[in-house]
Amino acid sequence: MADRIYLSSPHMSEEGYEQQYVKEAFDTNWIAPLGENVNQFEKELAEKVGSKHAAALSSGTAAIHLALKAAGVGEGDIVFCPSLTFSATANPIIYQNATPVFIDSNEETWNMDPDALEEAFKKYPEVKAVIVVHLYGLSADLDRITELCKKHNVTLIEDAAESLGTYYKGQHTGTFGDYGIYSFNGNKIITTSGGGMLVSGDEERIAKTRFWATQSRDKARHYQHSELGFNYRMSNVVAGIGRGQLKVLDQRVAKKRYMFEFYKRELGSLEGVSFMPVNEWNEPNFWLSCMTLHGKVRPVDIMDALEAENIESRPIWKPMHMQPYFQEYDFVGEGVSERLFENGVCLPSDTKMTDENLLKVVEIIKKLW
Ligand SMILES: *Cc1c(COP(=O)(O)O)cnc(C)c1O
Repeated sequence: MADRIYLSSPHMSEEGYEQQYVKEAFDTNWIAPLGENVNQFEKELAEKVGSKHAAALSSGTAAIHLALKAAGVGEGDIVFCPSLTFSATANPIIYQNATPVFIDSNEETWNMDPDALEEAFKKYPEVKAVIVVHLYGLSADLDRITELCKKHNVTLIEDAAESLGTYYKGQHTGTFGDYGIYSFNGNKIITTSGGGMLVSGDEERIAKTRFWATQSRDKARHYQHSELGFNYRMSNVVAGIGRGQLKVLDQRVAKKRYMFEFYKRELGSLEGVSFMPVNEWNEPNFWLSCMTLHGKVRPVDIMDALEAENIESRPIWKPMHMQPYFQEYDFVGEGVSERLFENGVCLPSDTKMTDENLLKVVEIIKKLW
C-alpha cells in the first residue's frame, strides 16, 4: 500500500531529529519509563504551549483519565462532554464510574455549544467537571465556556488531542482549562507512535499525576501503596521521538494550513459545499480539512470515489449519543452534531502529500459535480 494517500499518517522530520534523541536513549541505556527525554519533552512541550507544568503519559486517553481523577471525579459524578468527538474523550468518564452528559455542537464552531452547556448546567447543577474538545484543530468558544465553568465553580478539562498548535485569541488551546491534554497517537499532527501529555498550572496536581501514572508508589524502601496506581508513564524512547517531532510542529501546521486553503480554493465554490468554520478568534492547526455537503453529492460519494483511487477519507465523528455503548446517557441539544455527522467528510490531510496529490484529490471530487 506504498502509494496509498492517507488521511493523516506519521511524518518524521527530514532532519532526523527524532532518531538523534532515540539514539541518546539507547546510548545511555535509558530504555525506561523515565529518563532525560521524558523530563525534557515535558519541559519543551510546556514551554511551547505556554503552560507551567506537564506530565508525559502513555496516551491522550490516559491523560484524560488522570485529569478526571485529579479533578476529583469519582463514582456517580456527572461530567459534561461534547457529543461530537472521538470516544476516547468519553471513555475515561466511565473508567472513573462517573456519568457522562453529552452536549451538542453549534454550527459556528462545530464544538461544544455554549447555549447547550448553559442549559445543561441548569439541568445538572451538581456537575463535577466539563470536558471541552477542539475538533480537527478548530477551537471551541473558550471565552463563553470558561466563563460558564467559573460561574458554576466547575473544573474545566480541555481535550486538545487534535489541536496541538492551535491558538484561541493568541493563546494555545489546552492552556485555558484547569487541565489540558494532548495526544501523540499515530494520526495526530505530531506523533510518537503513541503517547499523551497532561498540562496544568497546578504543580502539585501534576506531581500527583506522575505518582499515579507510576503505580502510586509511596516513599518507602519496600513497595508500599496507599492509593490505586496506574501504569501510564511515557517511555524515554517515545519521549525522544516527541522531542524531535516538536521541532517540526510549526512546519506541520503551515503545511496543514496550505492544504486546507488549497482545498477551499478548489472546492469551496462547488454547489452545496461548506468548509469547516474558521472564526476570527481562532488560528487552527488544520489537523484535518473537513467540509459538509448540502446538495446532491453525498459524503459517501466522495469517500467511494477517493477509495477507488486508493485515497483515504472519512466521515465526521459519529456523535456519542448515537453510539450503542453510550445511548443510555442524556444528551442536551438540538441535533447539530447529528447533522454534521450526516453531511460531513474529512479530506486526506497528510502532510507528506504533494501538490500533485492534492490536485488528484480535487479532480476526483470535482468530477462528481
Ligand atoms: C486521539 C484523540 C484522543 C485520544 O488520544 P490517544 O492518545 O489516542 O489516547 C482523545 N480525544 C480526541 C478528540 C482524540 O482525537
